[in-house]
Order: sequence, then C-alpha cells, then structure tokens
Amino acid sequence: MGFAPCCMMNQFEQELRSRLAALENQGLYRRVRAVDSPQGTRISVGGRMFLNFSSNDYLGLANEASLKEAAQDAIERYGTGTGASRLICGSLAPFAQLEETLAEFKGAEAALSFSTGYAAALGTICALAGRNDVIVLDRLVHASIVDGARLSGARLRVFPHNDVAALEFILRRADSRRPSGSSTASSSRMLIITESVFSMDGDQAPLREIAEVKDKYGAWLMVDEAHATGLFGMRRSGLAEALGISDRIEVHMGTLGKALGASGGYICGSRVLIDYLINKARSFIFSTAPVPAAAAAAQKGVELAMSEEGEIRCRALWQRVSEAGSGINGKAHQQESARSCSRSDNRLASAILPIMVGDEARAVEAADALRQRGIFIPAIRFPTVARGSARLRLTLSAAHTAEDVQQLISTMQELRLITGPEVMR
Ligand SMILES: *Cc1c(COP(=O)(O)O)cnc(C)c1O
Repeated sequence: MGFAPCCMMNQFEQELRSRLAALENQGLYRRVRAVDSPQGTRISVGGRMFLNFSSNDYLGLANEASLKEAAQDAIERYGTGTGASRLICGSLAPFAQLEETLAEFKGAEAALSFSTGYAAALGTICALAGRNDVIVLDRLVHASIVDGARLSGARLRVFPHNDVAALEFILRRADSRRPSGSSTASSSRMLIITESVFSMDGDQAPLREIAEVKDKYGAWLMVDEAHATGLFGMRRSGLAEALGISDRIEVHMGTLGKALGASGGYICGSRVLIDYLINKARSFIFSTAPVPAAAAAAQKGVELAMSEEGEIRCRALWQRVSEAGSGINGKAHQQESARSCSRSDNRLASAILPIMVGDEARAVEAADALRQRGIFIPAIRFPTVARGSARLRLTLSAAHTAEDVQQLISTMQELRLITGPEVMR
C-alpha cells in the first residue's frame, strides 16, 4: 500500500512548492551538487572534473596525507562515535589534545572545541550576552553570529561595515544609557562582534581601531577568524596575531573546517572564559561530542599550519592571490600584494576575491558559463549577501598552481567577466 496523501498533505506540499517557485523566479533557488571526489583544486561533480575556485581549503589540507593518517589512527584507537556529550562521557582524549594545541596556536590560556563554527558562535554569544545587554555587530558578519545574537535576546545594534566612527557612536549612546558605574558591575554589558576577514568580501576589519574604542567604553570584543586562521601571523593563527593585539580581544573564534582541513569550531581565550563556556554554552552542553577522527585531523591541521610546511604553503597561497589579483584588477595590484605572510598592512589582503555582478540571475548565468568551461565558482546570492549584490566568490588555495590561475583569468576574460589585458591600462 502506497501513501494516499490526504488533502492536508497536498496543501502542505503545494504551499512549499509555491514558496520554492518564488525563490526560483528571483534567481535564488539553491540545489546541492554531489561532489564525488575529495576536496581539492580539481573536483569531480556529476562525473565531470572541474578546476575548483570555490573552496575554503586555503592551505590544501582537506585531503592531506598526514591529516588522514591522524584521523585513521584516532578511529583505530577511539572508534567512530563518542556516544555522549563532552560533559557526560564523550570527552575522549583527542579533544583535550586538540584544545591544548589550539591554545598554543592562538597564544591563549585555554581553548574549547565545538562541533562546528556555527555551534561555537551560537553557544558562545548566548552564554555571554542576554536580555540586559547590547550586542554590536558589523553589518556584514556571518549568519552564525547574527543568529547567535538574535537568539541571545540581547538588544542588537548594527554598524556600517568597518565604520569605527559609527561603532563608537553606538557604544557612546549605549554606554550613556547604562546605570552609572555599571561598567564594573554586572548589570549591562556591551559585546562587539566582528570578523577579521569578511567571508563574502574578503576585506579586513580595522581590528586595532576597534580594540581602541572597545577599551574606551568598557565593551567586550569577540572576533571571528574563520577566514584568517592559517593565513596571518608568525604562527598563522590569524589577523589578531599578525597585528599583535591578541591579548586585547576577549573572545577568539574560528573554524576547524576551512584552512585547517578538518571539521569543527573553536573558542580561545582566558581559562575563566573557557570554564564559563563549559558551564553555559548550550551548543556545547546539549550536543553529542564530535567524532574523534575530526578532532585528531584538526589537531594535525593546526600543527601543520604552525610548522615550516605551513609557512611554505601560506607563501604559495599569497603568490597565487597576487597573480589572481593582478589578472583581475590590472598590474597595479601586483607590487602591492607581492609580500608574503606579513600582509596585515593591506586591508584588502585575503584569499577571497569577490567578482561583483549585482543581479542574482546574471550571477547564476556567469557561474553556469564558467562551469561549462570547466571552472567551478558558484554564485553567491541573497540571503548570504544583500539583494542586488550577487557575486562570484573566487577563493584561492596554496594547492593551486600559477597555471591554474592563468587558466582562470583567461577564461574570465573570454566570458567578459573581467576586462582583457588589451583594454587594461
Ligand atoms: C564558515 C564560517 C563560520 C561557521 O563555521 P563552520 O565550522 O563552517 O560551521 C562562521 N563564521 C564565518 C565567518 C564563516 O565563514
């Protein structure tokens, strides 16, 4: 006997179908593409190979032999599942080892790993701020931060992207509304949250200036280094390290799933912050511990990023960024971005190069055209970015070759997505 859908069921499906049709009409329909190869600069999708410029695997670690061995070894020793949350009996040895390594990496007292970066944001923001507090966000922060801030119940304030003067204005007003003396009492707190490298624009936050104003008003600062981890600083732990301001940031957040080649999220900071999160972060407390293989792979990824091999990869990545940047923007870009890992002086430096298109349907068409020519760069649309600011989000990896970048540039020129060399000044 098959399903005989009753009329309620019909109505339910009809309603969803019409909602999906509305998305389709706006060029906003999304589908999952099954990738049948490991992550890398070449991926196989639907039986066809593509040159991939869409991954966040910035150091080329997602399919690295030493990470795979670490994961396999962890499976042999600890199995596949953890069977319980960290606070019950799921805190297997690889988590403690990972957290010790993360703390060393970030130069922090302590670290806590989460199942994802998304879970780290949600759990941490809600643990730190509540109804009496104010959360101040850069307009372009990631959805995980927006969701965490909303869920916390705190009052939300948003400042225009990277606008420190506007941030200060918000802090001054919020501060003046606090009961006097409250910056030392526990009545009302201000928590500023920003990314160090913005995920869809690839530009950097003015972290030093933000740290100045947050000190001035007694606010707390949380920085999401999802797209800077592995790329900046002597240990490659992020932009805060490169700028020498790590100890001025209360809460350091990142993901283990991008440059570090594994899966999971983390928070680093003082020992008391971590003890507090263990007691208060609901996404940590009420969720089964991740698989030990993920923690072991992530630990290896952190070790590799900190090592000389990490430095070599990082340098190769910046070389590719420089080549792609000059291909897209003209020769002027080349000199300016030809430096190695000390790139904190260039606000535009990251492994993310957005090609702005604007219209959603046109961005999808451009991505289709590139795919027909064997290049994989999906269109990024609302709600990931604002309506009318759709783009191709081009990302580079240390594993790309100069030839890969050359192929990308010439294909984009053919498709008139960027101007050809003959019209460039
Ligand atoms: C990817 C990302 C996250 C979420 O991390 P996951 O580990 O993928 O859940 C958080 N913040 C930013 C800026 C990101 O790009």
